[in-house]
Amino acid sequence: AAERSGPGTSQQYRPALGNAAVRRARLRDDLPYAVARGELAVLFQPIVSLEEQRVTGVEALLRWRHPELGDVPPAEFVPIAERAGVIGELQRWALERAAEAAVALPSTNGVPLRLGVNISASHVAARTLVGDVAAVLRSTGLAPERLVLEITEATVLADGEYVAVDFEALRLMGVHVALDDFGTGHFSLAHLTRLPIDILKLDESFVTRVDRDPKTRALCESVVTIGRTLGLDVVAEGVETPAQLGALRTLGCGFAQGFLLARPMRQEELGALLADGAGVLWPGLVGTR
Ligand code: C2E
Ligand code: MG
Ligand code: MG
Ligand code: MG
Repeated sequence: AAERSGPGTSQQYRPALGNAAVRRARLRDDLPYAVARGELAVLFQPIVSLEEQRVTGVEALLRWRHPELGDVPPAEFVPIAERAGVIGELQRWALERAAEAAVALPSTNGVPLRLGVNISASHVAARTLVGDVAAVLRSTGLAPERLVLEITEATVLADGEYVAVDFEALRLMGVHVALDDFGTGHFSLAHLTRLPIDILKLDESFVTRVDRDPKTRALCESVVTIGRTLGLDVVAEGVETPAQLGALRTLGCGFAQGFLLARPMRQEELGALLADGAGVLWPGLVGTR
């Protein structure tokens, strides 16, 4: 329909804008009860070692199945939880649920899987992270070395001594730290030498073009080199095609994660896959060498 200017025009837009605002308000109001109502779930996406050709870790990914609105992606509800001040509770629940699951998982080749958990900047800013992690390690018995806290560049760049102090405390506990979505933020290389980071997660925006664009390939190669120089593992995120995986292998990237290898799945599915012996020669890797 043709748009007209003048009186009444803005009213025509109100319903659409209103719907988004109404949805946000609804999510914000319902979020505090989502845990108690059993609407939240943690899925696990395998992370594969390209050298060993087996699963060496998983990333925990939060899901919210709203009874009326359906599946709400974390990219939508995590920011709402942050603004509503309930991210701490959500995060503690996810951390505990994921740790419980990890303790129950079979190990592959006798090596227990690593567990990556995403941590939002506001949880770090609230200064409860160190205590929350310690409590979960205690209550679940998860070995600290198995836990990987995935933080983004935004968390690292947040002003305040506390970030370095808290992450140093976490490292002293034995917990590992991954820099998530690496390459997308305003990151200075100097941060890599100052913060206790163990893993770089190369963002999928690079991975999608690693096999087709020479500049992207060169950037990915640099990240792999930085990892090797500083002794950090590099995990490629969002690997969807054999060509991408092949390119990453050629560059010497150590680990990969993505729909090609496995989708995020429930704890039971993951347990069944691992028990099946798929921990060695992961199916998604077959035929990609
Ligand atoms: P992320 O940490 O970068 O997680 C990876 C995202 O990529 C996940 O989306 C995953 O499902 C998706 N993914 C995995 N393989 C592929 C692939 O091959 N292709 C494509 N296109 N995507 C792939 P998801 O689960 O929707 O999570 C989105 C973001 O939400 C996460 O990004 C993370 O930043 C955040 N998030 C998820 N769970 C939590 C949580 O428990 N706490 C916090 N604070 N944030 C979370
Ligand atoms: Mg992540
Ligand atoms: Mg990521
Ligand atoms: Mg990402």
